Amino acid sequence: HAKDVGRNTYRFFTEQMNVNALERLLIQNRMRQALEQNQFTLHYQPQIDLADGRVVGVEALARWHHPESGMVPPDRFIPVAEESGLIVALGEWVLREACQQAARWRRAGLPPLKVAVNISAIQFQRGNLIETVMAALTASGLEPDALELELTESILIQNVERHLETVRELKAYGISIAIDDFGTGYSSLSYLRRFAVDKIKIDRSFIRDLSVDPESAAIVRAVIQMARSLQLGTLAEGVETQDQLDFLREAGCSGAQGYLHCRPLPADALAAFLTQDARFARHSGT
Ligand code: C2E
Ligand code: MG
Ligand code: MG
Repeated sequence: HAKDVGRNTYRFFTEQMNVNALERLLIQNRMRQALEQNQFTLHYQPQIDLADGRVVGVEALARWHHPESGMVPPDRFIPVAEESGLIVALGEWVLREACQQAARWRRAGLPPLKVAVNISAIQFQRGNLIETVMAALTASGLEPDALELELTESILIQNVERHLETVRELKAYGISIAIDDFGTGYSSLSYLRRFAVDKIKIDRSFIRDLSVDPESAAIVRAVIQMARSLQLGTLAEGVETQDQLDFLREAGCSGAQGYLHCRPLPADALAAFLTQDARFARHSGT
């Protein structure tokens, strides 16, 4: 803990830390089992193009159905998976499963969609990310341009030269790169250019506060303008209200994702949603 806050300091060992450490250990062991016993699944959340209202992509989000504890939210198991290194194995599974599902939807005749997969910094450091991604694409038969990887700002800040190489190689295959949770980290403008990312995902915290906090509104406007002049796409996360959507459209944001359109859904439910959506789009002539 002392190291976490930047060394040259100290922290007392507390009962609470002991509990947390035990809980982490317990979750770690259960996660190992869960991977073997296929307790993980993916839910998918639509991403909407604000120009025409169509679904242009889906984000794959990991879910853990524990036989006794029930649904464990990713905020509880992803950090533990990162700490223990299990995220490499879990991340490989997520990539394989997401690509396979996207390929199945294509074969079933659904309109073309990009599938977005979250990549942890640890996968960049320890995994063979390029091999893993290529293996998932080959096994599924999915085209590389149907895959988007969501990276966090921290990945592009650490180990810049090595990660630059990896991102360039992925992009050369036709895979797109989005920056997740933009605005919560370093928000460096130089890396957006150097890494030639395709899209910025504006963090949900800014969208949530749009109507109550003039500063959030100013930040969102500024990010969209900056992205546009760099010719990057923008996608607003966590859009829950029509007011937020109106603001974003007016500000020139290119995409949105959030409960207003659809919650993350299991694969079958999502396919049903998309079919309905496509039918609606045809009938309304858009
Ligand atoms: P994220 O990548 O930023 O994903 C967006 C999160 O916002 C998802 O939470 C989604 O359910 C939630 N969300 C979407 N629209 C709304 C909305 O309108 N309102 C609200 N309140 N929330 C909304 P979720 O599924 O709980 O995932 C949380 C985080 O866990 C993700 O944040 C991501 O960082 C991480 N995560 C999930 N799956 C994976 C994975 O396969 N690999 C890695 N490395 N991380 C993952
Ligand atoms: Mg994400
Ligand atoms: Mg996000």
